[in-house]
Amino acid sequence: MARILVTGGAGFIGSHLVDALVAKRHKVAVVDNLSTGKRQNVPAGVEFFRKDIRSPRIKDVFRRVRPQFVFHLAAQKNVRMSVDDPLFDADVNIAGSLNVIEQSRRFGVKRFIFSSTGGALYGDNVPRPTPETVPPRPESPYGIAKFTVEQYLNFYLLNRGLNSVSLRYANVYGPRQDPKGEAGVVAVFAERLLHGKPPIIFGHGRQTRDYVHVSDVVQVNLLAMKYPQIGGQINIGTAVQTSVNDLVRTMMKVSGITLPVKHRLAPAGEVSKSSLSWALARKQLTWKPKVHIDHGLRTTWAWAKTAL
Ligand code: NAD
Repeated sequence: MARILVTGGAGFIGSHLVDALVAKRHKVAVVDNLSTGKRQNVPAGVEFFRKDIRSPRIKDVFRRVRPQFVFHLAAQKNVRMSVDDPLFDADVNIAGSLNVIEQSRRFGVKRFIFSSTGGALYGDNVPRPTPETVPPRPESPYGIAKFTVEQYLNFYLLNRGLNSVSLRYANVYGPRQDPKGEAGVVAVFAERLLHGKPPIIFGHGRQTRDYVHVSDVVQVNLLAMKYPQIGGQINIGTAVQTSVNDLVRTMMKVSGITLPVKHRLAPAGEVSKSSLSWALARKQLTWKPKVHIDHGLRTTWAWAKTAL
């Protein structure tokens, strides 16, 4: 049994991770300011601290919890908002992360596991599925912030003895994803279908993304805890590209609801295609994605029907 702190543990991915850690009988605490997360996502028996990761009082949480492992997921995760308000994005995603990293160092955390991005890191015109050897060229403040935190973690590993790994997720989807905002396109489409509203596709819909199920993302976090000798940055995706058109078609098939699709102008600068290689994750963490998108969309729809 380990003592574990999960930042962002009331959110979509974080709460699934907390469930899995509790099932493994670890002693889990959560820090979350509930800006997008929900208190009811955090299971009973988990100590909950409603705090902002930028607050100096994060120190008090570390003093009380004395975590051996920190999973850092709390973030401003809206890419478009990061473009509109880069100062706020940097405040949360860089300064807030650094606050958590610094306390982790001070309190002798054994391993720091960072939820980074692959989807917002490599840009267009790169080989696909994209390996980690491709140099990052983030095209948004959100991507810049995630990449910056990875660099801080490199510094802390080499100079301050803080062991860490950064997991660069593709597009994560699954139950509990918030349909508000722009990040969770699966949740957005599910909510629209459910309420009889036509799905809106930006542009022609042939742009692709790599959709990785939240249960696979939870598994890789557990493996990252199990293999502390593995560091650096690791892509977490399926290597499969799914177009927005195909995603909508499959969701209509799964839900049995067919509606006409609306098209709107695509935002400028959007990455046209993306998928991430999972070869390094398999080699270093023995991970591979298990959930096929058809199955993942079916379970997500079953959840959406009861929750959205
Ligand atoms: P989410 O919004 O559901 O979870 C983030 C959680 O952090 C929320 O519970 C929110 O209340 C909390 N939070 C936000 N700002 C905070 C602050 N200042 N202090 C304390 N808590 C704060 O998002 P998610 O999709 O579960 O994402 C989790 C992590 O994974 C994020 O770091 C995100 O950048 C990363 N990520 C997500 C995806 C994806 O497709 N969902 C892809 C790549 C990376």
